[in-house]
Amino acid sequence: MKSDTVAVHGGYETEPTTRAVAVPIYQTVAYEFDSADHGAALFNLEVEGHRYSRISNPTTAVLERRVAELEGGLEALCVSSGQAALNYAVLNLAEIGSNIVSIPQLYGTTHTLFAHILPGQGVAVRFAETDGADAIEKLIDEKTRAIFCESVGNPAGNICDIEALAAVAARHGIPLIVDNTVATPILLRPIDYGADIVVHSLTKFMGGHGTTLGGAIVDSGRFPWKTHARRFPMFSEPDPSYHGLIYTEHFGPAAYIARCRSVHLRTTGAVLAPISAFLLLQGIETVALRVERHVENARRVAEFLRDDPRVAWVNYASFADNPYHRLAQKYFGGRACSILTFGIEGGFPAGKVFYDALKLFKRLVNMGDAKSLACHPASTTHRQMSTQEQAKAGVGPEMIRLSVGIEHIDDILADLDQALAASQAPDVARLVAAE
Ligand code: PLP
Repeated sequence: MKSDTVAVHGGYETEPTTRAVAVPIYQTVAYEFDSADHGAALFNLEVEGHRYSRISNPTTAVLERRVAELEGGLEALCVSSGQAALNYAVLNLAEIGSNIVSIPQLYGTTHTLFAHILPGQGVAVRFAETDGADAIEKLIDEKTRAIFCESVGNPAGNICDIEALAAVAARHGIPLIVDNTVATPILLRPIDYGADIVVHSLTKFMGGHGTTLGGAIVDSGRFPWKTHARRFPMFSEPDPSYHGLIYTEHFGPAAYIARCRSVHLRTTGAVLAPISAFLLLQGIETVALRVERHVENARRVAEFLRDDPRVAWVNYASFADNPYHRLAQKYFGGRACSILTFGIEGGFPAGKVFYDALKLFKRLVNMGDAKSLACHPASTTHRQMSTQEQAKAGVGPEMIRLSVGIEHIDDILADLDQALAASQAPDVARLVAAE
């Protein structure tokens, strides 16, 4: 079925006991066994069923199925946040002493995870100079366990050539992991272009209403873990933490998610609450409609800003002079996402006045809400990075990031117009001149 339909129905068939049409919230910690043998069989993974909600839950299972289907993957695991999903996605395949290679344009906390936290756990992250396939390939060696990219960088707005990165990954016998949060599967399905694993912050466009944190890891089921068993012994050798289970033997192509659930989620517990799974499912039902409106409103905002003399620059991938225009054509049919960045005349001081003058746009650190949102990455989401790291991630001091919402476009443009007027007032011009 088409994505619009999967978003509404995927993963759920009317519950047989109550005939509930909406997905029930299974607010339970545990599940009763028929007998001692049944309990043992469940723990031996010989029969299907839920045991304890830190491992799986029926409401969350619907969300997992729905996200997997939307991304064209085999299996998914949902966890408590996008960050937990990123952490598990990497740790599930990288042992101490190994490395992963990443593009430089990342969401700030992902950069912090990669630059400071994973190395402390023995996994090095090598940041390429650019998001190009050549720059990535240069850094791969025998110890590399994955390539990582954001399909659309937050906030840089760069578009990765997933097909090219997937070809490099395949050549070196390692998977390509793609954070598809900004794009959503409505605009782009990385697995269709050769990605092996897709990660999401469901907190953003998928949930779509700024109410609920959640993350997902989706596996294409295509990476040949057994062929590369020397590099990825955790999937093909007996797991001492799970009474000797061999994931590739027991789960076949579903080995990656099975191990992620049995090892990482079970033992470190970044669990998604059933009520959160329910709220995210509600949001996902309308994701196709919302994304369409987000994208159309963002196009109107980008054109408005580009044509306004009070604006110094606009970074929007579908403009013909944008360096990522060709990739926007290839992966998004010429459209661009609804995250865009810009700087206004007068630089940082005028930008600050603009930001404070916004009335409809919310000043915060989030994106993908139905509401229009504005963020100043250099002082917030990317604050932990050095100036050089910020520059490599595509973050400048005067940059403002907009997540364009689904309100009426006239109201969105009116708010931007009045804030731009405030930013160019004579007293601000004097302030700018004095800087
Ligand atoms: N990935 C991207 C691209 C993000 O923008 C974010 C958060 O902004 C995350 C991951 C982390 O998601 P969460 O806030 O759900 O942990």
